[in-house]
Amino acid sequence: MPEVMPAIFFGHGNPMNALLNNSYTQAWQRIGQQTTKPRAILSISAHWFVPGTGVTVSTAPRTIHDFGGFPRELYSVQYPAPGDPDLARRVQRMLAPLPVALDNSWGLDHGTWSVLRHVYPAADIPVVQLSIDETQPADFHFEIGRKLAPLRDEGILIVGSGNLVHNLHAYAWGRHMPDPYDWAVRFESEAKQMMLAEEYKPLISYEKLGPAAMLSIPTPDHYLPLLYVLATRQHGELISFPVEGVDGGSISMLTVRIA
Ligand code: ZN
Repeated sequence: MPEVMPAIFFGHGNPMNALLNNSYTQAWQRIGQQTTKPRAILSISAHWFVPGTGVTVSTAPRTIHDFGGFPRELYSVQYPAPGDPDLARRVQRMLAPLPVALDNSWGLDHGTWSVLRHVYPAADIPVVQLSIDETQPADFHFEIGRKLAPLRDEGILIVGSGNLVHNLHAYAWGRHMPDPYDWAVRFESEAKQMMLAEEYKPLISYEKLGPAAMLSIPTPDHYLPLLYVLATRQHGELISFPVEGVDGGSISMLTVRIA
């Protein structure tokens, strides 16, 4: 029997991290080197935020360059990991009776490949993406994570890719790197305390957490992948934050690792 795989939430931040060599990407690389090689990866990315739940079923998911205004070099990046149709069908069965579409149109978006390119540069581990149903509340997403938790016992690495704090309106694009906003630091610190204490209810009802949370999570897309990962945690299981930092004042690069 394979050992229990971790579940990891990555703060992916700026798409340029795909090409950069910085403290974040080096830490991602170390995570790949220090983690047992998974049989496959199930990725929940902020950038597949659509009405409905779907899984990619292609044997060769395409690399999607889902951003605008970046250097040409970024558009030539390919992450040719194979797909895993059997895993996609398994996810569909595990989530029944929820309808889950077997999707042939999506592939791997930059939430997935900008990080995995550093974690598993060989792109030799099959990757399946699961969409985030934008019409559903936070507790729905937590519940999906809970149902998918047994995959960790089958050699599957569950990856969430987003950002705990993600406010692009306040982000310093290309400017001198400012200090993190105090609300970003405050919310990140509160959220970490809750995660350490296994207090998930307030994190699910984050809209009630006050102004710092509202500025940190102006839209739910980059936050919800974290809930999928947290929901796979067994009681008392180790949680750690192997990557930390705030980019451009308003994007938390926090990585949350379960076991
Ligand atoms: Zn993003």
